[in-house]
Amino acid sequence: MILKKLEQNVESIQQDVEQACQISQRSVDSVTIICVTKSVDKETTKQVVNLGFEHLAENRMEKLLEKQEYLSDNKQIKWHFIGNLQRRKVKSVINNIDYFHALDKISLAEEIQKRAIKQIKCFVQVNVSGEITKQGISPENLIDFIKDLKDFDRIEVVGLMTMAPIDSNLNELSQYFDQLKLLQNKVATEKLDYAPCTELSMGMSQDFIPAIESGATFVRIGSRFFES
Ligand SMILES: *Cc1c(COP(=O)(O)O)cnc(C)c1O
Repeated sequence: MILKKLEQNVESIQQDVEQACQISQRSVDSVTIICVTKSVDKETTKQVVNLGFEHLAENRMEKLLEKQEYLSDNKQIKWHFIGNLQRRKVKSVINNIDYFHALDKISLAEEIQKRAIKQIKCFVQVNVSGEITKQGISPENLIDFIKDLKDFDRIEVVGLMTMAPIDSNLNELSQYFDQLKLLQNKVATEKLDYAPCTELSMGMSQDFIPAIESGATFVRIGSRFFES
């Protein structure tokens, strides 16, 4: 990608993040920008890293491994896996990542428990909108689901993750994101040692501003970085 354009996109993203933080009286440091590199090649991914972004996300095993190999000299990078992870791919992915954003089934937790050689930082994915096509635990079942994870010592529930429906208006977005924030507080109040649940992974290119205003601590931004 043309470096100049990438730099412009980065600057405009950072301005929006700063503004959203200001409006909601939060420090800029409380929001981590994850650059979602799933749609770009390894060279472009390296450009983003060179501009100072150390949190990268992928949603396919093959692309993750390819980029990790290409960037293996850089030990600072934190790798996030977003999106559906098939059980048969857990073995090849789980020990290569720092955060997993899509825990939503006990069968998946079982596979992670079996394959992980260290404790994995996981976000439980919640379906706040009730869209049938969306992955995620329903809000009503969330507490039970998290309690069911207590015997999985390879899983740490660091927070909750959600995706809002793409056709939501601003009001609806704020409602979904506020709801996830409430759920996060509810889980944190349980004071489960394996589920501190202090983080909120929400907000993408189209909706990271309202997500930050509702308390997102990780925003997952892809297309805004790479648009031409
Ligand atoms: C692709 C993707 C993103 C980034 O979406 P953009 O609209 O490109 O910013 C964030 N989260 C998940 C789970 C994704 O699959």
